[in-house]
Amino acid sequence: MKNLRESQKGSALIMVALAMTVLVGMVSLVTDAGLLYLGNQQLSNALDAAVLAGAQVLPQDPQGAVVLAKEYAEKNGLQQDEVQVTITNGNKVISVSGNKQVNYFFARIFGYDRAELDKTAEAGIGSLAEYTGIVPLSIDERELYYGEEYVLKYGAGEDPEGIWHSGWFGTLALGGGGADIYRENLYSGYLENVKVGDVLELETGNMSNPTTEGVEYRMAECRHTPQCTFDNYQPGCDRIMIVPVIKPYGHKTVEVTGFAAFFLEGVGGQGNENYIYGRFIRFHVPGEFSTGQSGDYGVYGVYLRG
Ligand SMILES: [Zn+2]
Repeated sequence: MKNLRESQKGSALIMVALAMTVLVGMVSLVTDAGLLYLGNQQLSNALDAAVLAGAQVLPQDPQGAVVLAKEYAEKNGLQQDEVQVTITNGNKVISVSGNKQVNYFFARIFGYDRAELDKTAEAGIGSLAEYTGIVPLSIDERELYYGEEYVLKYGAGEDPEGIWHSGWFGTLALGGGGADIYRENLYSGYLENVKVGDVLELETGNMSNPTTEGVEYRMAECRHTPQCTFDNYQPGCDRIMIVPVIKPYGHKTVEVTGFAAFFLEGVGGQGNENYIYGRFIRFHVPGEFSTGQSGDYGVYGVYLRG
């Protein structure tokens, strides 16, 4: 009788030991799978942050892009000398590779110490092909010299008055004609989405008063300290306007071929003679864009690849 009880106790112990082994195995699997997942996420996030940061200064500054990418990789837990940055496609694609070691917690019991994760992230920039918020101004298709002064809306009697239509000074009728709609569009940008290939109507007349009001309003909305300048500005500043690049289409209409960013510096001239002056800048906007048929006028969107 005693022997039977002993042997029952013995087999129960074996059962418990077996169950424990299975349990530890499962816990280790779950815990270490979690660690691996976390490590993967941290590495992906760090590399994504690195490429997105670097892309902000492409295509004009590839060396700066490398520096920025490495800084952001480091801010996100990687070593600067452990990431490789490459820039390709005419300085329009940046990729960053990095690796991370994940030390296992339980799996060591079974002889697995760590995992090596290797990943690459890639970001590209593309010319903006659509935008919501353009101003009712325009620039005809041409090569733009960033940082040089341009006049956007001409004054009456000035060259090139009415190059495509008599009494036209460079303004657009977006969502309707007239001074009130024009002024509103100048204040806050046209609220509809405009794409490359869209046909827009010209606004004729010199629009002097609403131009002065619109420009002064936007200038005053820059409450940044120090005040923004064309080479040192806050990205969301109202002094930066997205202007459609256009070519003639039909009677009193033009076709959009791209978008440019204009840093507003003021309104000059008196009465009917007034004009808007400022400088085109290279600018990155958040949001949608395409790399399709849009001309490159210095306004870019950034996207993650793969
Ligand atoms: Zn500002």
